[in-house]
Amino acid sequence: MARVRITHVESFKVFAPGARPNFAWREGLRGGPADGLVAVLRLHTDEGIAGVAVAQNRASAVVLEDLVGRLLREELVGTDPLERERIWHRMWELDRTEEFPIWLIGLVDSALWDLAGRLYGAPTWELLGGFRRDIPAYASTSTFASLGEYLEVVTQCIELGYPAIKLHAWGDARRDAALCTAVREHVGAGFPLMYDGSAAFDLADAVYVGDALSEAHYLWYEEPMREFNVTAYKWLVDRVRVPLNVAETSDGVHMNTADFIASGCATFVRTSTELRGGFTGAMRIAHLADAFRLRAEPHGNTVYARHLCMAIPNCSYYESLVTTNPVHREFGVDENGMVKAPTAPGVGLPVGPEYPKELESYVVDLAGDPLSCDTSIRHSAAS
Ligand SMILES: [Mg+2]
Repeated sequence: MARVRITHVESFKVFAPGARPNFAWREGLRGGPADGLVAVLRLHTDEGIAGVAVAQNRASAVVLEDLVGRLLREELVGTDPLERERIWHRMWELDRTEEFPIWLIGLVDSALWDLAGRLYGAPTWELLGGFRRDIPAYASTSTFASLGEYLEVVTQCIELGYPAIKLHAWGDARRDAALCTAVREHVGAGFPLMYDGSAAFDLADAVYVGDALSEAHYLWYEEPMREFNVTAYKWLVDRVRVPLNVAETSDGVHMNTADFIASGCATFVRTSTELRGGFTGAMRIAHLADAFRLRAEPHGNTVYARHLCMAIPNCSYYESLVTTNPVHREFGVDENGMVKAPTAPGVGLPVGPEYPKELESYVVDLAGDPLSCDTSIRHSAAS
């Protein structure tokens, strides 16, 4: 293929409504985003093919506009967008003085992988190294009001076909431990359960909850503490039996994940495009984990996570959010709890002539209704 060049770089501010009804990851930690502007990055080439990526962070639109105008346009115009690895390293070099927000490297990289998929006429997950064409989804709950309501939600999730459930709870060690024990009794032995602490605890409370999860045979114990201190996690893993799932949000991305792994505290690691440096960073982490015989579990219910799930051999599930009672099964999760591989070229975001108008409606759906994040599925379902 003749060399391709990026000809221009655009940033858009696209209105995205907040989650309705709103929800929380735990008490004091809002889950659903507020109304706001999100960033859309579009890269054009002299081949006439564009790549696009969308951020979900509500600060992203303002930040991206600044960075494109001041730095990224000059950096990217004239470069070959297929040199994703070189550009990714270049972004880390720029990060040394700019201190990019964690999603920014991911946004540029994801647009490049979208562009490559459109150029080759293949979905991005195939270019990443296709591993599977469907995967089970776990129901990932937000916070509900009472133990009774959690049990109602869990029952509905199982009836809707979800083969595994992860609880986000209140962030109170005693109440959360009792909840996790009660949910295990409710679903019976053998049903895969996970728990996500959303960084609520110090070490003492993390151990208390970890003991309950160990007793109840939870599959993983995710992010009980802020992830800045790897030593604290090492001390936790020395005190509890339940396997830890770590390094979802920590700065330093693959380099930081490497330290979590080297410390011996990781059985699972988190990976994502938005918090782990795009597809390039997310796959690097997955392969790093694989070499150590660990699993790398994609974070979040995005179209990006769907691509990662199809490309990463050492992952178990797609994360599907359950934030309402009554429970609605996410768009694209079938009655057996399975999610299918995206089929459109690239990531599958629209880049037609109507863009960003077309994307505006897409982003509205993405943010307001996390059930419909894959336009390739939506388009084929509609036709
Ligand atoms: Mg998490």
